[in-house]
Amino acid sequence: MSSKDQMENCKICEREISSRRTSGLCGHCKRLRDRVDIRNLKLKKRHDPKAREIALRSSWVAGNGQFICMYSGVPLFSLARQSRSPLYLSLDHRIPGQEDYVVTCRLINDMKGILDDDEFRHIILDLADYFRGHKEASSALHSRMTLIQKQY
Ligand SMILES: [Zn+2]
Repeated sequence: MSSKDQMENCKICEREISSRRTSGLCGHCKRLRDRVDIRNLKLKKRHDPKAREIALRSSWVAGNGQFICMYSGVPLFSLARQSRSPLYLSLDHRIPGQEDYVVTCRLINDMKGILDDDEFRHIILDLADYFRGHKEASSALHSRMTLIQKQY
């Protein structure tokens, strides 16, 4: 008689999994956590799996069975075949180069680029003011971008 698997819950989405999975994650969450980041490849750096698990866990909304973008609140796509969508789940470095991640959508991550959280928020707010017709916001934008430019 074969012994039955002990069951436990995925540490991220709480789906029931076999306790023989040493990662403690379901296949889907493990793939998201271990996805290769092209920027890290260039730096020959390995990501910190624990830091990624924390970010994924905090963006998981069990009631909806979905990950959400931590910057916009929108529900995200997370299947590999959806990877070209602007809503595809993406792991952003809260501070570029540091192992502190935020789950966001691909579009916002692309827009955020190498900016840290504060720089990104300020630029978005100034840009929104400018779009609303507050033409004076362009001088604030110019100052912020000049500061950021010095980091390149
Ligand atoms: Zn899972």
